This record gives sequence, structure tokens and C-alpha cells, in this order.
Amino acid sequence: MESLKTEILQCKKCGLAETRHHVIFGEGNTHAGILIIGEAPGRDEDIQGRPFVGKSGQLLDKILAACGFTREEHVFISNIVKCRPPDNRVPTPLEAAACMPWLLKQIELINPKIMILLGATALKYMAGPDYRITRERGNWLNIQNRLAIPVYHPAALLRDPSLKRDTWEDFKKIVFKYRELINPDHYSKHV
Ligand code: SF4
Repeated sequence: MESLKTEILQCKKCGLAETRHHVIFGEGNTHAGILIIGEAPGRDEDIQGRPFVGKSGQLLDKILAACGFTREEHVFISNIVKCRPPDNRVPTPLEAAACMPWLLKQIELINPKIMILLGATALKYMAGPDYRITRERGNWLNIQNRLAIPVYHPAALLRDPSLKRDTWEDFKKIVFKYRELINPDHYSKHV
């Protein structure tokens, strides 16, 4: 994982290398049972060099905490593209295609039992262009012989708080699955 990190931090395979301040490798336990996949770093992430540190990230941390999960122990967090698209636009298909091999290598090395796909872009590039987040959220999918569950991106919850109720139901499913597959004694105060 360390040599992969060294390679990724030097990557210039797409045009996003021109405008980034940091390549966001990802963060968490490299042996975690859960891999969280987001879309792309935003402004705060690009400045700080860490994934999900802005308002979306703070909300994600709250949701994880309610499930009894921490970044340090239970999850690894990565993105479809590892450099910030200017103005936080959605990554282009070319950028995603250039960057996805890094994510696939991370998946292979981390070997997670559960993948959480945060939002439409993660779902599109991990499952296929026909998948819709509004239709698939909360459904378990088989992607590359692993269990994956799409959920709304925290940024969508900030824009539309009415999505929080469905999202909490989805994360409860993730806690139940974590107990079933990884640790039957997993403690969560709320689930
Ligand atoms: S977004 Fe990915 S492919 Fe493009 S330069 Fe950054 S690390 Fe490389």
C-alpha cells in the first residue's frame, strides 16, 4: 500500500494534475472491512490533503459515529478521482477512466467485505451508467464479487435534509451486515 501511495501521489495521468494542490490518496484502516467510495476531493480536501474534511465530511463522520464506526478502525475512505476537479464539477468520463485503476488497486489491497458507494458518481463508475442513485440506494449490489451498497452522498443530504431519513435506514442495513460478515459483537449505541 505504501508503494501504491508513492505512485499515486506523483500521478499526472489526467488534466486534474494541473490544478490540484494535493492528490488525495485516501484515509483510514488499510485492512478495514468497509471501503467508502466518494466522487472527488473538494476545495477543503484539496487544501488539507485529506478526504471528506469539509461540511460533507463532518456529516459523514457523524453518520459513521452513530453506526459505531471510526475512520481509524472500521473504514477506509477513497474517491473515484483523487484530484479536485476545478470548481468542484463532476469528474469527466476521461478523468474517471484515468483514475479508476488506482481505486481498483486499492480495493484489491484493502480487500473490503463491504463497499459503500457515496452518491451518483461512485455508483455510475462502480456499477455502470444505467444505475440511478434514487432507484438503487439501500439495495445490496454485487460488484466485482463484493457486496456494495449505494447511499446518498452527504452533500446531497446537506442540500436536501429530507433525504436523511432514508440514508439512516441504509446505514442501519450496513451495521447489520457488518455484524453478519465481520464482527457479530460490533457495538453501536443507535442500531
Ligand atoms: S485525478 Fe487520478 S488520474 Fe488524474 S492526475 Fe489525479 S491521481 Fe492521476
